[in-house]
Amino acid sequence: MNTQLSEKLFEEAKKYIPGGVNSPVRAFKSVGGTPLFISKGYGSKMIDVDGNEFIDFIGSWGPHLFGHNPPFIKQAILNALENGTSFGAPTELEVKIAQLITELVPSIEMIRMVNSGTEATMSAIRAARGFTGKDKIIKFEGCYHGHGDFFLIKAGSGALTFGVPTSPGVTKGNAADTLIAEFNNIDSFKKLIKENKSSYGNTIAAVIIEPVVGNMGTVIPKENFLKELRDICSEEGIILIFDEVMTGFRLSKGGAQELFNVKPDLTTFGKIIGGGLPVGAYGGRRDIMEMISPSGPIYQAGTLSGNPIAMSAGYAALSYIKNHPEIYDTLEKNSAYLENGIREGIKSLGKNYQLNRIGSMMTLFFTEEPVMDYKSALKSDTQLFARYFHEMLNRGIYLPPSQFEAMFVSTAHSIEDLEKTINASNEALRKVLAN
Ligand SMILES: *Cc1c(COP(=O)(O)O)cnc(C)c1O
Repeated sequence: MNTQLSEKLFEEAKKYIPGGVNSPVRAFKSVGGTPLFISKGYGSKMIDVDGNEFIDFIGSWGPHLFGHNPPFIKQAILNALENGTSFGAPTELEVKIAQLITELVPSIEMIRMVNSGTEATMSAIRAARGFTGKDKIIKFEGCYHGHGDFFLIKAGSGALTFGVPTSPGVTKGNAADTLIAEFNNIDSFKKLIKENKSSYGNTIAAVIIEPVVGNMGTVIPKENFLKELRDICSEEGIILIFDEVMTGFRLSKGGAQELFNVKPDLTTFGKIIGGGLPVGAYGGRRDIMEMISPSGPIYQAGTLSGNPIAMSAGYAALSYIKNHPEIYDTLEKNSAYLENGIREGIKSLGKNYQLNRIGSMMTLFFTEEPVMDYKSALKSDTQLFARYFHEMLNRGIYLPPSQFEAMFVSTAHSIEDLEKTINASNEALRKVLAN
């Protein structure tokens, strides 16, 4: 594969942009090699600046449920552009998209639009703290909620008590307010609550979770895990926040909460909700959301929030979902086809690598033990993954450049695309296991 122009651009980029990229995982650091500079995307395909074409399974890390540049979203953006790009005043479209979201996701009684998933999760935590008057939050090890200070925390050594910052610049104070539990381990959650009681009750404002995890690779909640979480939060007066930035509108029209039939107090969105433009949102219980400024005292604002171009793309995406609920059956069928094809290839080589899939999210973990939390995900052979990644790339298949990410099937992937991917996977596996 000729990647001359990408290499040249990367050298140039590194002079002006930290690491040459505007978001770290794009740099291919965990798989090695030079990131490809993309010039164009259409349907299931992406083309790089050297003219190489790929079947894309990143979908811009989640937003592209319908593949690249679907005509109905493109047209909606073009129509909106005719009227101007931003007003800093309310528009009718903001009312329509808010109505539509409350219709698609029943737990959402009110919603506030922001500009990214990170902004959504930061704002939801502030809402929960403001509403409860409590400071501490619980997150689960391996879940990602954007780059807000109080999320960049990992479990301290040994006991699951106080967290420690995973990044310089995050204060000890932030770390002390964030407690870390283990995904799929309800006892680890109960233990934290017990350890954090004052004479007034527990000191925990909120728990935030990816109800289905995508950010340590695809990890699926065990039977009843989310329901138990819900019950404990209700008993203890803790705000349950589902971070559905990735799973929202992907796993079903109502997200993971619809699939698992668990109703959170607040939900955060991003990715698909913006139809490929920078959008996030948070919403949920009316009594909590009415505390947000200007109807209540909890401050949160945004110059470009509810931007008309972004809203037109998001509204087109969500309207399509409302009018074509059958897309989720197609996504399930096609994703199962891909899963089975890859699975057979693994089996035929006498391996038992774990392929976690739910709907159109999946991850092939290079470990033979079940992956159900962060610790088990970390057992993966990341060097083997890196070689598999490059073998796939050489065969025209663009996977996320990290073992700990989900790949996404879109409605634009054809059966031919998936067959090609299965064949490439079988060849790639044979190659990486041969030497
Ligand atoms: C991507 C993601 C975020 C962060 O969203 P950005 O738009 O990148 O800020 C937060 N939570 C989850 C679950 C995500 O997948």
